[in-house]
Amino acid sequence: MKKIRFFRIAVISVALAAPWTGRADSENESSDTLTVADVNNTSSSAYFSDLVATTTVDSKFCVLVTFTKLQNVTPSTTQTLFNLSGKGQTTLLSLSVTDAKAGYAYGYSYQYRHGHSGTAHNADHKYRLPYSTSESYAIGQEYFGSFSHQGEHALDWNTPEGTTLRAARGGTVIDLKEDSNEGGVEEKHKDMANYVTIGHDDGSQATYVHLQLNGALVELGDTVTVGQAIGLSGNTGYSSGPHLHFKVSQLKSPADFASVPTLFVDENGTVLNLDADGNITSLVEGESYGGSADSNFSVLAQSIRSGTVLDGSNKWRTGSWFGTFYDRDQSWIFHPQMGWLFPVDGEDSSVWFYHSTRGWAWTKSTSFPWLYFNSTKGWKYFLAELGFYDENGREWESIDP
Ligand SMILES: [Zn+2]
Repeated sequence: MKKIRFFRIAVISVALAAPWTGRADSENESSDTLTVADVNNTSSSAYFSDLVATTTVDSKFCVLVTFTKLQNVTPSTTQTLFNLSGKGQTTLLSLSVTDAKAGYAYGYSYQYRHGHSGTAHNADHKYRLPYSTSESYAIGQEYFGSFSHQGEHALDWNTPEGTTLRAARGGTVIDLKEDSNEGGVEEKHKDMANYVTIGHDDGSQATYVHLQLNGALVELGDTVTVGQAIGLSGNTGYSSGPHLHFKVSQLKSPADFASVPTLFVDENGTVLNLDADGNITSLVEGESYGGSADSNFSVLAQSIRSGTVLDGSNKWRTGSWFGTFYDRDQSWIFHPQMGWLFPVDGEDSSVWFYHSTRGWAWTKSTSFPWLYFNSTKGWKYFLAELGFYDENGREWESIDP
């Protein structure tokens, strides 16, 4: 795996009543896709310098700034963790001199990772097995396996060269490598694995490793839906034979990044790895499992969730056309005014909702807040404060969830 973490101590300088001239140090690794530098601020009298992040690829990033010294210098914000999207420059914060008559000094370091951060992994999310329902592969190494999975919630499937790998969960492609054509079990092979990494809406990310040469079927920045073909399995990197290494990690911050256990479901949506006490277990080494990535059992209603941001710790989801709703387990959702709804994907990104007292209603992002109710064969307009306006009865109906 490519080592993404990067750490740098910037220039520390002391100035005595003279203008301070910023200068970035010369350390620069060409492989870095995000750098932070202090840049003279010439447009503001309040600030003498800005910390500016520059990203060179179209991905998502999380950067953590740590001040190692702040002497008579005040940052414009107490925020130190930043999520960035896309390629270009972003001013993270600005620096001012607290007492203009006194000397000042500052120093900082930063770390970054590809992906946006999230406070907690959505432990209820059900991951698919990342290949077709028509295929079945054995687990070659389970969670914490002794060959190379020490301390890691990682799984190996014995997928032959060229097996089509499919997204176990939808998200955004945040990192990939596909230019390697070498594998083996020597130290030098550890940096030679091709891979695709997909960031999820709760700050977790899944990485699919050991792809064959040019085996990524997606591009950096692509939105990926569950079941989509994303890569071709191979044997690159630290690997004793063709297989897929799969791992989900939670990015709380670049300084707090660790693998997490996840639920897996078979092609019928049945959970495969919960023990009697309700704890997530590993899929079992030596056992074969049929794929589920492209199974049609889905009632996950991706259309209502696409473009939303999940607060992983309390399961509320915000941001898209449907507003804010509680998304406990990716099946029923709770809308603050409408109550409990069961969403099912329809054609053309539309969604059907089963409402506990009103039955099925249909809408889509371009129709909402109008909903079509199957029970009355009519449209109703939704307004949070008043309820539903019934087009036929021409009156407002309070919603009784
Ligand atoms: Zn592995």
